[in-house]
Amino acid sequence: STALVWFRRDLRLRDHPALHEAAGRGEVLPLFVIDPALWRPAGRAKLAWLAATLRSLDDSLDGRLVIRLGDPEQVVPRVAREVGAGSVHVSRENEPGGMARDRRVVAALREIGVEGVASGSPYAVDPGTLLTKGGTPFRVFTPFAAAWREHGWDSARPAPRGVRWATAGSDGRVDGMLDKALRESPIDLPAAGEEAAHRRWQRFLDGPLSDYDDDRDRPDREGTSRMSADLHLGVVHPRQLLDDLRGRTGAGAEAYRTELAWREFYADVLLTQPDSAWQDLRPLPVAYDEPQDAIDAWRAGRTGFPFVDAGMRQLLGEGWMHNRVRMVTASFLTKDLHVWWPVGAQHFLDHLLDGDLASNNHGWQWVAGTGTDASPYFRVFNPVTQGQRFDPDGAYVRRWVPELAHLPGAAAHEPWKHDGGYDHDYPRRIVDHAEERTVALERYEAAKS
Ligand code: FAD
Repeated sequence: STALVWFRRDLRLRDHPALHEAAGRGEVLPLFVIDPALWRPAGRAKLAWLAATLRSLDDSLDGRLVIRLGDPEQVVPRVAREVGAGSVHVSRENEPGGMARDRRVVAALREIGVEGVASGSPYAVDPGTLLTKGGTPFRVFTPFAAAWREHGWDSARPAPRGVRWATAGSDGRVDGMLDKALRESPIDLPAAGEEAAHRRWQRFLDGPLSDYDDDRDRPDREGTSRMSADLHLGVVHPRQLLDDLRGRTGAGAEAYRTELAWREFYADVLLTQPDSAWQDLRPLPVAYDEPQDAIDAWRAGRTGFPFVDAGMRQLLGEGWMHNRVRMVTASFLTKDLHVWWPVGAQHFLDHLLDGDLASNNHGWQWVAGTGTDASPYFRVFNPVTQGQRFDPDGAYVRRWVPELAHLPGAAAHEPWKHDGGYDHDYPRRIVDHAEERTVALERYEAAKS
């Protein structure tokens, strides 16, 4: 009979356990469902990235990807019945919303006698697999990472060969929706799809990887892999990256494996503590503010702190922000403006092509000091010295903040110290960092006592 593969965060053909499983059962119908409830509120850059990735997947399938519109709880059983499918295959979900949806879909399928089968997940080790010696989920990264390495993972498999594809029509509205999403993209998208992702990865392996350990903190250099947006949509599976790193013993490869382990750790935390998506993991009764004008200035990259503003503008301009700058901008919102982290997390999710509930929201909790394994609350990044340290020549600031492009070298980090620093209408600092740092620490002390 026909086996339906319902693609979600696994938009690839290589190393796809659910696709392999389906191909072993009969003809395969590849399906993607656009749920209007998720499509409409998503940021425009993110929608465009998804549209470009879907188009590329469809190309790899010679135009056979079936895209339907609607609530998956109705759409998936309807398509299954339409093509006489005996089973529906997916990659396992770990996000609370996706898991609840999958339970509803599986129940609806059961009613019409169709089996729901989950194989694999977007992670090298499926979330929920690893436990401490006491049999509980890990709360701390370092022992998790040790257990993760010890557990190991399967090798990546090539795309299944000789698949017999079934066909069905797509929803007539879909083409127009994808066209519109691409047309309205507010940014120039990176090249999308499996081939492009593998080329991107190969360039990183051949070049920046060897210096990754040193360069990954430098937003002024192209020192990181930029694989996050592909990993987010499952265009590549981390197993493939880990395979390609096998046998590489340098500090760069070690550091890269550790970064992938963070991604897996946060996915595990989200599965085992689903409330952590939007609630403090370690609640801190600190007093928060809602300074709307300052929040708007932060979102627009107009705080008057060059390194913060460069990051916030990179986010809007590229749909990506360097990790070091994610930390500094998040610290600025939570510690200098005293805003509760979900406000910033939502803004990031709206604009990051890699915007991912587990990595983003736990990254925010880490900075805010509320997370599992978090940086301590009293750690407050200095937005100026961070810039001087990680963008020593000011090149990153000048790239993203044209009002400061006339300031040479590190002067770009301190326009207030230089004649003509404000000649091109760069905004004055909206807060005094030293004062706000003290306020943050006082509030923290008050909350503890
Ligand atoms: P590389 O340095 O090349 O890293 C390789 C891969 O490792 C990344 O693609 C990513 O999958 C993983 N990785 C690296 N660092 C982390 C980390 N700290 N936590 C989890 N995974 C990591 N990452 C996301 O994928 N999506 C997000 O929405 C996201 N939001 C973040 C929000 C904040 C406040 C912070 C501090 C970090 C966030 N990160 C997020 C983690 C990190 O910033 C990005 O993964 C990284 O910048 C992506 O660029 P890259 O692929 O070039 O990274």
